[in-house]
Amino acid sequence: MKRIFLFIGFVFSLPTVSYSFPMKIAVTVDDLPGWHLVKSGNAQKTASLFASVFKQHKVPATGFVIGALASRTKDSMNALTVWSNAGLVLANHTWDHVPYDKSSTKEFWSGVARTEKLLAPFYKRYGWNRIFRFPMLNQGDIPEKETAANEYFFSTKTLLAHVSVDTSDWAFARYYDQFTETGDLTAIKNLEALYFKHIMDCVKYAEEASAAIFSKQIPQILLIHANQLNAVMLPDILKELRLQKYDFISLESVLDSPEYRPFRYKIIYQPADHFFYHMSHELKRDLPQGLDRSSYRYFKSYWEPQIKKLCMTALLSE
Ligand SMILES: [Zn+2]
Repeated sequence: MKRIFLFIGFVFSLPTVSYSFPMKIAVTVDDLPGWHLVKSGNAQKTASLFASVFKQHKVPATGFVIGALASRTKDSMNALTVWSNAGLVLANHTWDHVPYDKSSTKEFWSGVARTEKLLAPFYKRYGWNRIFRFPMLNQGDIPEKETAANEYFFSTKTLLAHVSVDTSDWAFARYYDQFTETGDLTAIKNLEALYFKHIMDCVKYAEEASAAIFSKQIPQILLIHANQLNAVMLPDILKELRLQKYDFISLESVLDSPEYRPFRYKIIYQPADHFFYHMSHELKRDLPQGLDRSSYRYFKSYWEPQIKKLCMTALLSE
């Protein structure tokens, strides 16, 4: 009997969070056509892999293009064609990927315009709306930069692509590229298993943040990067998200939902971070306690020591 009362007490002490299924998530892929992929001449091939996985799992993904990287080779330009031919949207991720706080305002926005020019034939062909994402989510360091950005978004009707599920996928990918070069299959398998857990933990963290800030589950925006690791791991990740009752919707649909809509053409809070961090400031509500599990600091303290332990043979053979 005592146990029952304890149980009831526990249930009623939980915060009220409404979950309505299916939950919704948009998948976004940054740094198209991929730094390492362009360098190794695998941009088009990997874009085809991404396209077939997204098609198979019915995911209307959006890819963010770095203009200078895309225009580097024939292979890198072909990757954009493969991506768009598969019905996936292309969006702007600046010309050279220099963070906003490290660039002059003028240089930064003229680079954005240059990438717009590169993407113009695709816009014309597919009739997409303009969408933009800041490199490293860096929204500048001074109020003048925030004003200039908001003016650009509003005057050009360019949607600002927020991120709610941030990840450290790029840090895992560095190890992955290293292990695939040395061909250590055990290290590759171990890293893939850790990476899968990391992505699911970042989704869980975003759900906890959504509960803390909005007292409900809002549509999520997942950020991953164009790399070999994601091309290999996406089928498992997408399958798991479906099992967890997620529906895949477009980035534009998420940005049109009530929680994001007021900030479609507007920076919420300037420091570089994810949507829940910005909204915790805006709504004066606390994020979940402890270190942000999607952050690089968390990667360094929790995931990297495990990579070093489990993949030691590959690291020693460098
Ligand atoms: Zn980027």
